Amino acid sequence: MFKKVLIANRGEIALRIQRACREMGIKSVVVYSEADREAKYVKLADEAVCIGPAASAQSYLNMPAIISTAEVTDAEAIHPGYGFLSENADFAERVERSGFVFIGPTPECIRIMGDKVSAKQAMIKSGVPCVPGSEGALPDDPKEIIRIARTVGYPVIIKAAGGGGGRGMRVVHTEAALIHAVQTTRAEAGAAFGNPQVYMEKFLEHPRHIEIQILADTFRNAVWLGERDCSMQRRHQKIIEEAPAPGIPRRTIERIGERCAAACKKIGYRGAGTFEFLYENGEFYFIEMNTRVQVEHPVTELVTGIDIVQQQIRIAAGEKLPFTQRQIELRGHAIECRINAEDPVKFVPSPGRITLWHAPGGPGVRVDSHVYTNYFVPPNYDSMIGKIICHGDTREQAMARMRIALMETVVEGIQTNIPLHRELMVDSKFMAGGTTIHYLEQWMSQHKR
Ligand code: ADP
Repeated sequence: MFKKVLIANRGEIALRIQRACREMGIKSVVVYSEADREAKYVKLADEAVCIGPAASAQSYLNMPAIISTAEVTDAEAIHPGYGFLSENADFAERVERSGFVFIGPTPECIRIMGDKVSAKQAMIKSGVPCVPGSEGALPDDPKEIIRIARTVGYPVIIKAAGGGGGRGMRVVHTEAALIHAVQTTRAEAGAAFGNPQVYMEKFLEHPRHIEIQILADTFRNAVWLGERDCSMQRRHQKIIEEAPAPGIPRRTIERIGERCAAACKKIGYRGAGTFEFLYENGEFYFIEMNTRVQVEHPVTELVTGIDIVQQQIRIAAGEKLPFTQRQIELRGHAIECRINAEDPVKFVPSPGRITLWHAPGGPGVRVDSHVYTNYFVPPNYDSMIGKIICHGDTREQAMARMRIALMETVVEGIQTNIPLHRELMVDSKFMAGGTTIHYLEQWMSQHKR
């Protein structure tokens, strides 16, 4: 096992990785920007190195600074967390070329999955069902694009091959709007992701977002750890996730989970990963794969009892998966609320000093957060300041515990989306389970938000 791991991230996930290392007896090195100097995990770290100013480009995205910190601190491996450099194949390559272990898949796998066109092609080859659409990237010829859209059938969605974070997508309802939409998405994709390639998919009107968590070792063993329902989204960004997905027959989920594990073996995947699907009328359609740990991984940890971050580290250190598929059992139900520093009605970010932070507790309540009373939420990064995750024997119990946890939580000095979560946890449709990816936005418009 590694003696020392460098954590190339910030916020709650940096703390999460630090906790995993500590439990395993591994020393951790934290890199931080000037804006994160006050963070508690920085103070608690075995070693902490400031790698640059607040701007991510000069700190958390600064590959030479991160790699040279690993060199001077004698770290053996680098955990990239999520966001930042976690899905950057060039970074993974540079880490390995510099003699460190990248805690994640091979650069080749990251590259294939990072381009949504090549990811879909790999999935089709591996027998994973995809959303019907263009075969590969769209050609330049407008006539050809029109022909493809007619075959797929309107409405269609134009998506950037290099897109991510809910950006680089455009829905098209009529032929008249098609070519302009393709051109605009291409131009935006070129500017935002450095890759102007776009592709077309059928736009599914009432899907749910269901994803499968997998773990694969370097011995071609792969298992799936159940599913997560992440349909509660605003602007394609998840805010509530749960496991298992309410109302979907187990057999249907098992079939898709088995396909995902088989695909991992086929493509030589290693580490943790997530296959994201849209689910409509009893069918699963692959949309993308995330080659990293996800924000919502704790819901799976609570229902399986498996520590996903520790498994990532063990796999990277060359260990075999310690369990087979048959040994993985799902117990109860878990639900996660992402707590964001933002106005709960207008969603404007609300950085600043937290004058009072009181976290909830009690049976089945887990809080993953790096903040504390007097912590300053910097304006430079994502607005998520933590996650509350509740577990229960049933979905009802998990939700009841979440309602209590949200009631107990006190955050003063900044605004958060906790009031929104409190309202959603008593919404009759959400409580019934099985809402689609459009539900939250519909709910917000009905509640005059
Ligand atoms: P990103 O990498 O930006 O997260 P995804 O491909 O995962 O992009 O899509 C994000 C979200 O966009 C999905 O969860 C879903 O809400 C919506 N979406 C993507 N593709 C489609 C589609 N073909 N039909 C309907 N909604 C879609």
